[in-house]
Amino acid sequence: MILVVIDPGHGGRDPGAVSPDGEQEKEQVLKIARQIKALEAGFGGKVRFYLTRDGDWELSPEARANLANRLQARYFISLHQNSDRKHQGRGVEVYALAPGGEGEKLAHRLLESLVEMTGLRNRGVKFANFAVLRLTKMPAVLCECGFLGTPQEAEIITKPSFHRLAALAICKGLADYLGCPFRESWGTDSLSRLQQLGLLPLDIEPYEEVTWEEFASVVERLLDVEGKL
Ligand SMILES: [Zn+2]
Repeated sequence: MILVVIDPGHGGRDPGAVSPDGEQEKEQVLKIARQIKALEAGFGGKVRFYLTRDGDWELSPEARANLANRLQARYFISLHQNSDRKHQGRGVEVYALAPGGEGEKLAHRLLESLVEMTGLRNRGVKFANFAVLRLTKMPAVLCECGFLGTPQEAEIITKPSFHRLAALAICKGLADYLGCPFRESWGTDSLSRLQQLGLLPLDIEPYEEVTWEEFASVVERLLDVEGKL
C-alpha cells in the first residue's frame, strides 16, 4: 500500500487567494482534496490518501511536512490555487523542489493530466524552495490548480465539476506515475449505499473476492427488496 499525503493549502485565518466573488482558496482546495480521498477506491487498495487537514483549521508548513514525515508517506501532494497582482494569470503549474528527482517526474505527470482533463493553460513544471517541499522527506509537489484571482478563470475553477475533474486528473496522473491501474467507477459510496439498503453485509472488505454463493445471496436479497420473492 502506498501512502500519499494530500495537503490542501491554507486554512483557518489564512484564506489563501480570494476570487472577485469572495470564494476562498482554502475552501476550494479542501473540496478537491476530499474528492481525491473519495476516489481512493479506484486504486483497488494500492493507494491510501491522508489529508493534512479535513476541515477549516490553520496548519504551518512545518506541521504539514512533519505529519507526512511521521506517517512515512511515500509522496506528498500540496493543493493550491493561484492569484497574481493584475488578476490576469491563467493556467496550471506544478512545483517540485529541484530538477532531477522523483518530485520532478511526479510533477510532470500531474501537470500533463491536469492540463489534459481540465483544459486549463499549461504553465509548466517549476521549481521553488517552498517549505512544504523542502521539509518533507519524500518526493513532494505543489499543484497550483488555476488562478482564483482572475475573474474568468475563477468562474470555472470554483465549480464542483472542476473540483471533481481536478481530483480525477491528480489520481490519473498519480496512477500513471506509479504504473498502477486506476478506475474511477470503483466507489466506496456505492458500497455503503448498498449496505444501508441491506443488500450487502456490513462486515465486508471492499477488495475481497466474492464467491458464487455470496453473489447469489446478494441477488436473492435484491429480489427480496424488489418484492419478487
Ligand atoms: Zn495557496
